[in-house]
Amino acid sequence: MEVEISRRKFLQGTVAMTVLGGTAATNLFSSEHGSGHSTSGHAPESVTTKTGTSKAEEVATLCEMCVNKCAALARVENGVVTKLNPNPMFPKSRNMLCARGNAGLQALYDPDRLKYPMIRVGEKGEGKFKRVTWDEAYDAILNGTDKFPGLGKILDEEKDNRSSMLFCAGEGMAEHTFKQFFQAFGSSNWLNHASLCLQTVVSGYGVTIGGYAAGDVENADYVIMAGANRAEAIVTPDTMDLFKRTKGRGAKLICVDPRFTHTAAKSDKWLAINPGTDLAFVLALTYVTITENLQNQAYIDANFKGYEDYKNSVLTNKYTPQWAEPITGIKAKDIYQIAREFAAAAPKAVYYPGRRSTFSKNDFQLRRAMAIFQAMHGGIDCKGGLVFGSKLKLGKHEGLEPLYARAEARAVNKVAHPEKGHSGYADCAIVSGGGSWVAWRNRYLEDKMPYKVRGMFCYKHNPMMNMPNVKKTAAMLKKMDLVVTIDTMPSDTVMYADVVLPECTYLERTDPVKTFGGVEPSIAVRNKVIDPMYETKPVIDILRGLTTKISKPLFEITKKYDEDVQDELSDGTEAEVYEEFDLTIPFKHSQEEINHHMVASVYGEEAAKELHHKGVFYPKMDKYYKQLAENKFQYYPEKEKSYQTHSGKPKTPSGKIECNIKNLAKKGIDPMPIWKDEYEFKVPAGKFKLLTGRHAQFTQSGTANNAMLRDLIGENFIWINKRIAEQKGINFADTIEVSSSIGKTRLKAYPTEKIAPTQVFFVHGFGEESNELSLAYRSGGNDNAVIEDIVEPVYGAAAMHETNVEIRKV
Ligand code: SF4
Repeated sequence: MEVEISRRKFLQGTVAMTVLGGTAATNLFSSEHGSGHSTSGHAPESVTTKTGTSKAEEVATLCEMCVNKCAALARVENGVVTKLNPNPMFPKSRNMLCARGNAGLQALYDPDRLKYPMIRVGEKGEGKFKRVTWDEAYDAILNGTDKFPGLGKILDEEKDNRSSMLFCAGEGMAEHTFKQFFQAFGSSNWLNHASLCLQTVVSGYGVTIGGYAAGDVENADYVIMAGANRAEAIVTPDTMDLFKRTKGRGAKLICVDPRFTHTAAKSDKWLAINPGTDLAFVLALTYVTITENLQNQAYIDANFKGYEDYKNSVLTNKYTPQWAEPITGIKAKDIYQIAREFAAAAPKAVYYPGRRSTFSKNDFQLRRAMAIFQAMHGGIDCKGGLVFGSKLKLGKHEGLEPLYARAEARAVNKVAHPEKGHSGYADCAIVSGGGSWVAWRNRYLEDKMPYKVRGMFCYKHNPMMNMPNVKKTAAMLKKMDLVVTIDTMPSDTVMYADVVLPECTYLERTDPVKTFGGVEPSIAVRNKVIDPMYETKPVIDILRGLTTKISKPLFEITKKYDEDVQDELSDGTEAEVYEEFDLTIPFKHSQEEINHHMVASVYGEEAAKELHHKGVFYPKMDKYYKQLAENKFQYYPEKEKSYQTHSGKPKTPSGKIECNIKNLAKKGIDPMPIWKDEYEFKVPAGKFKLLTGRHAQFTQSGTANNAMLRDLIGENFIWINKRIAEQKGINFADTIEVSSSIGKTRLKAYPTEKIAPTQVFFVHGFGEESNELSLAYRSGGNDNAVIEDIVEPVYGAAAMHETNVEIRKV
């Protein structure tokens, strides 16, 4: 989303700004269950199970039960949302709403949800809060209480160093709104989910082919799916393409995964690879491609940079299938066969880029090797290969990014004497926009920050559950002077807050309009379905209220310490200077007004109205959109689809596939993907490599308390190889303690042959410690209680599959 930013016009000599675009202390939530009152809507006490027969209203919205944002039509009867149905008009979700999407109702009517603003009255992490008014909550953030200091004191003591506050956010459409607050506030410390999620795949593909392209699995004839468990981890329309539509027309699917997953069960061939050795597998596929001359040489000649270097590296290092066999555990003959089959199907062949978090320390190089292998067969920016797609434009809206003279740069840890050519960062070579969460937290705990960071704002984010080493995250939250959380549920992280600002759920708010790129691009909107219940608010309203409270008092601190502002004041009026520091500016308009402007300014008033009504818009939708069969729709005619948007070329600045990136070498990173002995899969005797993953009916910790979904998966079980289980006398559902160097967790056993004797596995997102989550509390085991905080060396992503654990029956 594009934002028009205002920046210090006095300093820059330009005129910037343009258009739009009380109560008693309690152990809080439990005693309030079911007693909520709504400012506008009424709160039912439990899940609605009957839809009734009265005439219902339908409101177009977007699901927020996972990242995919499928389109839904919410059925509303007498102010109650009684059903969520798929909206067939959205090309991205194609008339589909999965089990989690249907369970969105329970997110709205969960009796445990946060209902009122609260401030801490007990010890940090104890979960003792008192209910306050919104104004009292904002006041506590500004002025503190007897338990914690406020922003005013912190910024005064830190002499207006705005970076003394950290801002962090989870994925979501309103993350953009929260980021507006971060930018206006003037901190340099921003951490989001990227380094706990897709950072290495996005960056690996980004630097190699110029973008994180999608695999066109609907049209591919051959798909290698390695480490992406699409049949289980997330079930979206492209999952259906892969397993229903694709198989139905005879495409071949190769699953490469240490575990026998549902994806493996549905594939033509399953290769049980040793964890962390996928890079060796791809290098061996590349070796076969080169030595058997299977590559698309014309494509390479026209579009590659540094290919000869890479070819020589692969050949001289002798990355043969025979070399790869003992490393990966995959037979050499299978590697030969797959390389040949992939080449025969190319360019309608996809090495699926995946959508998972970082597993191993070599993940960035793995993604580079995958992208190069894909490109060697010409399958870039083409039907059946990797597709960049196109994106529809949206108008701009107003933002604010003042320059505070006293704001320090991002709190990285520079090496005192960096080796020649090294970037000088101690934790990782490159600091991306989203930062490295684990490295940042650890630096903070070890007092290695270049200045004091005193507090944090946390939006829709649960680092207590989602980041390796829970004990360290708890210590970080305890050490912060001021923690403000904005959330819908009393998560483990919320329990460590000083001030809790309750956001309404996605069905009660309008979020920033979003453009969805792809082969069939469109714009879609999450409309408010019903008014917010209890005293909850959308984040934009929360930030409007907060900034109205804090903006002027914080400007007084800026006036006191900021020499540039003092100069400006001597040249102009205070009102003129303050205009550039007025934190309320990004939140002046309602989200509905902003969305309308962003669409109407590009496509006209009618388009904006149509989007609001139908939830989806793209030019010529009226003409193109057709129902072809009971559950089959046309969004774009075939010839109008954006299979190719870049003439089949990569989108890197050089216009070439980057095989040998010399600038990486300057930062101490291998310029080409190579294998190192340290990557080999090794597990000490008596230990097991811990693998983690996702479940199709459970979105990490976000749905942990959802009663509807807990009917489908109530707790996680640990997969233990059957023979190992027998040796240890472990039976199904026995309680197992899993321990590593950093902690322990407990969950029930699932002895199975679907995992190797050297590994154990359990699904992420269970085992919350917040006792305000009636269903999620201590249900199952928390993987991040045992996953060690191992940082991937390039972008500082959390490497999730590098931990060895012990297990014992208790
Ligand atoms: S895949 Fe399911 S949970 Fe995710 S957005 Fe779509 S319907 Fe919602």
